[in-house]
Amino acid sequence: MRPVTERDIRAAFVNCTKGEAKRLAVPRDLATRPWDDLDFLGWRDPASPERAYMVAESGDGLVAIALRQAAPHAGHVRRSMCSLCLTVHPGDGVSLLTARRAGKTGQQGNSVGAYICTDLACSLYLRGKKEAAPGARLHESLTLEELITRTATNLTNFLNKVVE
Ligand SMILES: [Zn+2]
Repeated sequence: MRPVTERDIRAAFVNCTKGEAKRLAVPRDLATRPWDDLDFLGWRDPASPERAYMVAESGDGLVAIALRQAAPHAGHVRRSMCSLCLTVHPGDGVSLLTARRAGKTGQQGNSVGAYICTDLACSLYLRGKKEAAPGARLHESLTLEELITRTATNLTNFLNKVVE
């Protein structure tokens, strides 16, 4: 994706109030992020790690959403798969994140959830820039380009559920 600034990000939030978008934690190291290798930027609030955020390109603009980590399952989850990049992680490497839906439906308490890499580094796992545990990637005959396209489609579908 193209590099984005703090101001771009704050203006792109679709599922929180303007005040929340102004106050929420945006990474301070945006200038040094590996933008060429990112399909979206995801991060957590270091002060409250149950809060996660992502920003992605959408058409000509940007869409940013605020997410909350759902309470972990009782009992031990051995392995689970990210619904965006399809990387399999052991333990808590994948989290159920929920996003309040945009607009009226969100105000009525509607939200959508997805299992996503806990560190939101899907783009880097796909490109082999970040190592996941052994067995994390399925053996597929897809090219990197195809994997990226599939992840982008999964991401768009998720974002559409939040925005619609
Ligand atoms: Zn992922």
